[in-house]
Amino acid sequence: MDGRPVIRQLPQALINRIAAGEVVERPASVVKELIENAIDAGATQITIDIEEGGRKLIRIVDDGRGIAPDQLPLAFAPHATSKLTDDADLLSIRTMGFRGEALASIGSVSRCRIVTRTNDGDAAFGMDNTGGEVTGPTPAAGNVGTTVEVRDLFFNVPARRKFLKATGTESSYVTETVLKLALANPSVGFRYSRDGKVAHDLPPGVDRLLAGWPKEFRDQHLAVDRRDQDYHLHGIVGLPELAAPHMRYQYLFVAGRPVKDRHMIHALREAFRGLCEPGRHPAAVLMLNLPPGAVDVNVHPQKLEVRFRESNRVHALVMSSVKQALLGANLAPKLKPKVEEPEPPRENVRETLAAFFKQDLQQQTRLENVQPVETTEVAAPPAVPPSQGDGSSNGESREEVDPALPIRGAIQLHNSYLVTQTDDGMVIIDQHALHERIIFEDLLQRIRRGNLESQHLLMPLTFDADGRQLEVLETLRPMLLRLGIDAEAFGPDAVAVRSFPSFLHKLDPVDFLQQLLQRDESELEKADDETVLHEVLDMMSCKAAVKAGDPLTPEEITALLARRDLVSRSSNCPHGRPTTLRLSLTDLERQFKRTGF
Ligand code: ADP
Ligand code: MG
Repeated sequence: MDGRPVIRQLPQALINRIAAGEVVERPASVVKELIENAIDAGATQITIDIEEGGRKLIRIVDDGRGIAPDQLPLAFAPHATSKLTDDADLLSIRTMGFRGEALASIGSVSRCRIVTRTNDGDAAFGMDNTGGEVTGPTPAAGNVGTTVEVRDLFFNVPARRKFLKATGTESSYVTETVLKLALANPSVGFRYSRDGKVAHDLPPGVDRLLAGWPKEFRDQHLAVDRRDQDYHLHGIVGLPELAAPHMRYQYLFVAGRPVKDRHMIHALREAFRGLCEPGRHPAAVLMLNLPPGAVDVNVHPQKLEVRFRESNRVHALVMSSVKQALLGANLAPKLKPKVEEPEPPRENVRETLAAFFKQDLQQQTRLENVQPVETTEVAAPPAVPPSQGDGSSNGESREEVDPALPIRGAIQLHNSYLVTQTDDGMVIIDQHALHERIIFEDLLQRIRRGNLESQHLLMPLTFDADGRQLEVLETLRPMLLRLGIDAEAFGPDAVAVRSFPSFLHKLDPVDFLQQLLQRDESELEKADDETVLHEVLDMMSCKAAVKAGDPLTPEEITALLARRDLVSRSSNCPHGRPTTLRLSLTDLERQFKRTGF
């Protein structure tokens, strides 16, 4: 009958393009497949170049064993692999690739060229795959090893190409991929450049475990190394203070593959329980190696999932080895003053943050049309007058005034610490941490009351920003507006700031926004609204607070200490570090060996 659909075999090129979607989601997935191939080929040095976040060019050069000319046509053929010969192999996979579809898929959605030479070959050969159309091999110039160039990814799948994010975002996915593979393969050198600029140059071996963390974390890690029969866990964990509200410093590997395994994540969190604020994620790079039969890595090739035969054993191993590392470390100072216990995060912090998003913009921000205030030098500690009419009205109980701390004159040491006498001993206060805490609480109260006065700048302030930063700004803009920050894209590569909270008049708006937008990778894009708000408030407090090293006048010291007991949770700064160390007379007597007489 007319109009009845006919069942047809799809052309192979179309099948490949559909299959490609399984393997190739974005430039980072191409980079992953190609680096894995290079590692499987025994490369000792891998060079990765990308342009425009990988959408224009991805080039991976390796010094591995190369592909013999007669094998080369097979490399681009679907389901052709040198890595899997029978079913039994599926259970004991040791190489990275095993489906034999990466190159075929990549070639079907890009202009891809392979140039390769084996160490016994006297010439290199090149082969092209342009959207599934394969030509070659033909003799070419090249060193021993393989170069794969992928240009114009998704040029023939416009829907897919449109789906790609801004250059900066795609680059950051690629960076994450490169770092994970570099962490898992410390004996291979990696050199990674974005648009001609070297982003990471990682020689084999040296300090590879630290490659995924910011440089300043270097000295703040503990080694983890433990075996349980044929299971082996090794790596590093960051000191508790490195725990972050995001998971970017957490790299977990099983059998050399990056994973997001809930058993390992949970065990790690348990090991840090009580040492860092709940809701923060410990920094860790952990490698779990176990016999091939103990783990199924084939659950989903793209999804970072694995299935353990004995997940409890994995959990126990991770938790106990990390705990042991933390216990072995001298986390506590020699003289043991009482560090005021971190209180659990109050429900109402989260509630306040959540409520913020439900309030009406109108009542939130009050725009004041005033001139920008000159930034003054040292912050007079209470950046704001003590707030009134807050807590009690919504049923929150204010922290009781600390009876042990009527101020009896404090002295400042090293322009960083305030030392004062209490009824039963003395306290040492970290001036920055305390001030930060005070400002954070003030911000919360302001949000709760819904009055964040904003100051309109007569002349907008502008600064340069890249595409990814503009994208982040776009996402954050509604929240920032409600916090009194009016900043938006100003042309294709700049940001204009039009107003800024009057409360934060001591901050440089440009400096603040630049730092906010520079928070790299997808940190701010992936987090939920409340986490991002918490982060922004943290940043405001940290930047507005007096710094370690700032000299304070006696009046400033008194003002700062006077605020201490007005603020809830003042014994910890927003990052969960203590603000106050307490030494009782008994502690002192014990130290001076006066006891027992
Ligand atoms: P798989 O890695 O799953 O086998 P691919 O499509 O990624 O499938 O690669 C197909 C084959 O091409 C591989 O099995 C390997 O023999 C060869 N090959 C790919 N990349 C390289 C490389 N960089 N060096 C040497 N051989 C390679
Ligand atoms: Mg492969």
